[in-house]
Amino acid sequence: MGQAPYGNIKKHGSNQYAHRFSWEMHFGPIPKGLRVLHSCDTPLCIRPDHLFLGTQLDNMRDCAKKNRWRNQFSVSSPKAQAAAMAPHTSEGKFA
Ligand SMILES: [Zn+2]
Repeated sequence: MGQAPYGNIKKHGSNQYAHRFSWEMHFGPIPKGLRVLHSCDTPLCIRPDHLFLGTQLDNMRDCAKKNRWRNQFSVSSPKAQAAAMAPHTSEGKFA
């Protein structure tokens, strides 16, 4: 854990580290044990103003609060990826 080189983002076949990379680009290293979470409920979002640090517990609590569980499956769809790159607000509504 925590040793994955960012150059392997594509090798993993997923963008799951893209938001972490974005955070480090803007704010510096992510403290060990913390995760980069989204205030906008868009898993692939990499906008620094939509990201914040939290623990796994925070993440789970945040997910529950936003009722995100049932939306997890859509992350890998092209539509979801397009949505992540589109302008949107931290309320999760697309502008
Ligand atoms: Zn966002």
